[in-house]
Amino acid sequence: MHRERGLILHFEVKAAYEGDCFSDSMDLRMSDLTKLTLTAALEGLESKAFSSRELTQAFVDQIETSNGVLNAYVVTTPDKALAMADASDARRANGEALALDGAPLGIKDLYCTKGVRTTACSEILGEFTPTYESTVTQNLWDAGAVMLGKLNMDEFAMGSSNETSRFGPPANPWRRDGSNQKLTAGGSSGGSAAAVAADLCLAATASDTGGSIRQPAAFTGTVGIKPTYGRASRYGMVAFASSLDQAGPITKTVADAALMTELMCSHDEKDSTSLPVETPRWRDDVHKGVKGMKIGIPKEYRVDGMPQEIEDLWQQGITWLKEMGAEIVDVTLPHTKYALPAYYIVAPAEASSNLARYDGMRYGARVQGGDLTGTYEGTRASGFGEEVQRRLMIGTYVLSSGYYDAYYLRAQKVRTKILQDFQTVFQDVDALLTPTCPSAAFAYGENAGDPVQMYLNDIFTVTANLAGLPGISVPAAIDSNGLPLGLQVIGKALDESACFQVAGALEEAAGFVAKPEKWW
Ligand code: GLN
Repeated sequence: MHRERGLILHFEVKAAYEGDCFSDSMDLRMSDLTKLTLTAALEGLESKAFSSRELTQAFVDQIETSNGVLNAYVVTTPDKALAMADASDARRANGEALALDGAPLGIKDLYCTKGVRTTACSEILGEFTPTYESTVTQNLWDAGAVMLGKLNMDEFAMGSSNETSRFGPPANPWRRDGSNQKLTAGGSSGGSAAAVAADLCLAATASDTGGSIRQPAAFTGTVGIKPTYGRASRYGMVAFASSLDQAGPITKTVADAALMTELMCSHDEKDSTSLPVETPRWRDDVHKGVKGMKIGIPKEYRVDGMPQEIEDLWQQGITWLKEMGAEIVDVTLPHTKYALPAYYIVAPAEASSNLARYDGMRYGARVQGGDLTGTYEGTRASGFGEEVQRRLMIGTYVLSSGYYDAYYLRAQKVRTKILQDFQTVFQDVDALLTPTCPSAAFAYGENAGDPVQMYLNDIFTVTANLAGLPGISVPAAIDSNGLPLGLQVIGKALDESACFQVAGALEEAAGFVAKPEKWW
């Protein structure tokens, strides 16, 4: 069924250029170039099997034919992409190729991109076009990458299904077997996940405040990592909850994720929470194996009502790691049950402060009122969507005098307890294994009417944000409906290496090469 397409092509291309006979043995159509992994595409560029212009044109064409249905991109920049591709080809011709030279990427719409509209998919940012570039995207362009456009997301990254976007949701390229109902690609980075899964970019940037990289990755059979808080600069990323927000990539493989994360992360004086640390060569960790590693299984992640298939997948992951020589240890993280409530106090509180800047005076849209207050009120009432307004009201409430101690302060204390739980177990284990999400991708509208049901989606992912730890989701199985499921690996602070090592081993054991059947 869906399996194999991606991998077969990968091998064809590899075999073709390794045998140095790419052009005559291959009847590789240009559209097939889009199916390559980032790593394979860079190898193809390096061996001159194809140029960045050819590769970029293939993506531009795919986006043109598919985006009307998938709605993954909210801005496309084909001219810019082709100009960047030509510049890359020129560098390669001069022997000056950079780490990502000529690789076409998609950028989540919360990264400020100079001269390209950036709205975090909110009406309130109107046609806002930044005059500066975020550090993360600048790092990617400095490594030679090519920008295809801006990717759909939940408004201000608030959501788990991408349904709160001003541009409407993207479609998950995956559908249940025998059904043509459109499913969510997850959120908030739904556009990034849909674009990677549907081969509309080689890899994408995303961001994760409570799970927004890992959950969409799990829903689309892709890989997503949230690095340690402070690894990547937040400069030029539209802020949601500043103590939780972290940049990271969504990619087709663990090796691609390692490469992208290496290039996105850097110490940056423009972000006061950026860590003054070196970025390791994580690519080297992916195939190290897990022999001798100690992997913790937190019992609190076995929640009521979790589908049997998720439980089975988790067990399968445990078996794989054991078979590959890891030691499995049962651990306890007793404050896990408070994580979701604490997150839904801390995140809205920070959002209510961060989003105070959108008042119709400085950015984007303005609704003129009778006086200054009227302008503020009109702008914010019409510019923010329902979910964002809900969060701003919760946030303002929990920070208000009289309630601050009962809610916000208490949530901060819970956050410390959660961090301490992790610190205790990480004295004994190298990494933790959990499911990424309590379910596979759901349909639009299925959870939209019930915010609490929607928030429950984040139950396994928010803990890593509250504690600032790295977490990666790797596709590990297809459920009985034909949908992908992900496993999550959580590491110690600054130990992304362990995440890549365990995720690489899981990827190998799972042999997950499934692709959605093309219907778009
Ligand atoms: N789904 C979570 C929320 O709605 C997480 C979002 C995110 O990580 N940006 O807040």
